[in-house]
Amino acid sequence: MNTDVDVVVVGAGPTGLLLAGDLARAGVSCVVLERHSERSNLTRAFAVHARTLEQLDARGVADELVATGAPESQLRFLGGHELRFPRLPSRFPYVLITPQYETERVLAARARSLGADLRYDTHVTGLARFPDRVEVIVRNEGQPEHLVRASYAVGADGMHSTVRDAIGMPFPGKAVVQSVMLADVRLSQEPPDTLTLNTTGEAFALIAPFGDGWFRIIAWHRHNQPPEDVPVSLEEVADVARQALGTDYGPHDPRWMSRFHSEERQVPRYRDGRVLLAGDAAHVHSPAGGQGMNTSIQDAANLGWKLAATVQGWAPDGLLDTYQAERHPVGRQVLRTSGALLKIGLTGPPFLVAARNIAAAAATRTPFGPRVLAGAISGLSISYPAPRGAHPLTGRRVADLPLTDGRRLYEALRGGRFLLAGRPGSLPAGSLPAGYGDRVDTAEVARPTGVVALIRPDAYIAWAHGPASKGDRTTAIRDALTRWCGSPSRPAPPRRIV
Ligand SMILES: Cc1cc2nc3c(=O)[nH]c(=O)nc-3n(C[C@H](O)[C@H](O)[C@H](O)COP(=O)(O)OP(=O)(O)OC[C@H]3O[C@@H](n4cnc5c(N)ncnc54)[C@H](O)[C@@H]3O)c2cc1C
Repeated sequence: MNTDVDVVVVGAGPTGLLLAGDLARAGVSCVVLERHSERSNLTRAFAVHARTLEQLDARGVADELVATGAPESQLRFLGGHELRFPRLPSRFPYVLITPQYETERVLAARARSLGADLRYDTHVTGLARFPDRVEVIVRNEGQPEHLVRASYAVGADGMHSTVRDAIGMPFPGKAVVQSVMLADVRLSQEPPDTLTLNTTGEAFALIAPFGDGWFRIIAWHRHNQPPEDVPVSLEEVADVARQALGTDYGPHDPRWMSRFHSEERQVPRYRDGRVLLAGDAAHVHSPAGGQGMNTSIQDAANLGWKLAATVQGWAPDGLLDTYQAERHPVGRQVLRTSGALLKIGLTGPPFLVAARNIAAAAATRTPFGPRVLAGAISGLSISYPAPRGAHPLTGRRVADLPLTDGRRLYEALRGGRFLLAGRPGSLPAGSLPAGYGDRVDTAEVARPTGVVALIRPDAYIAWAHGPASKGDRTTAIRDALTRWCGSPSRPAPPRRIV
């Protein structure tokens, strides 16, 4: 059986599922191939940060996910100090603790409802590239191999990506921590209603509530590092937790226990012709800071609309390459931040542990320290490069402003289109020239702002014009639309491969 489709996505993890939904929403045909069966109650990630929730809000599924978990706005850590995140400038001023399978469930339902074709129990074994297409080799249990042919392929197939290997993309880096134990358990005694973590230099433990009576314990001991295939025992986890936290809270009835190691790696290029890499297929790092799934979902949010525009033939020159230009530096920074957090957390000698705890106490008492840390970890401080001389808002995340029609700005983004936004009367008549109605909506902001902004479908500011900006506003709007949304008359999409 041969299937012809615009985009084939390999991997139905959080990255592939968000991407598939965005492509389908834009009217791009999309198949997702996943080697596993659909439902599982095993989870790796459990922290969903504010910027990811905002991205989900711009897709209408954040509230559903929030209802599955526990919002946490403070962190007890390093020597028992409490880091209270200052009020994040977001509708979601917290870390949502929810199992990764809930995020995947919500994203899979969305992708399906928008028309993406999700195929489980479908193993990709290879990929061949041609000037006009990509062919993915697929194996289903008990059936002969077959091909899925597409204009573009996205490897969202995780750390051991088959797609990455098939295109020969290097994945340089190194292992950073060995033999970390993970246990999803019930507890006899509830810990304080926060994420609880501590390290003594010898032992590290973190306990996170899923909000449904289950808890995740992550534990590591400097002098207990058996190979990964040695089964984890509950006694071992409890012992390390006691050493790190002073108590183990009585873990019992484990539903999942495993031992893993963590690596820091990143591909040099996120795009190679018709093949793109996203999520863990492009970058992996330590779980410190809970950044992996969040960064991965935000890769997909950045890529989806650019790939859709390219497939549909209206993307301005170079738009798809901005995926690398914008997301590769973010991935690199996440490797650095999570690496630094890991090093701090696993500090060894007692005098350094004491110094670290004093530094942590001092940092949590200043307003500046928590703000910087919260901005980095929540993803709210991520911004993209802006051209020289651009308005200072260019490349920044857009705030969720109220609109005059009663909606919020993130609700207005749910169509997956650009928004040309300003206060009533600030958009010159005819500022949205004919021919853009299929890609751009207009919105009136119910706030006294002197700025008119072109907002990208991924909720970043493409262009802005304020009272001090040079040049005629109407001309500037037309230039910005051409630069970001292509020419007004939309060319016919390239012919689908037969
Ligand atoms: C212990 C632990 C805790 C973590 N905690 C957090 C956290 O709190 N917050 C956070 O943000 N991140 C966390 N992470 C990281 C997070 O789990 C990953 O970053 C995230 O899952 C990446 O999503 P993805 O979709 O890119 O890849 P994956 O979730 O790995 O999905 C890839 C999918 O591709 C499929 N696949 C692979 N090869 C093939 C093939 N050949 N054919 C078909 N399908 C294939 C796989 O079956 C899988 O479903 C944690 C990781 C670990 C190990």
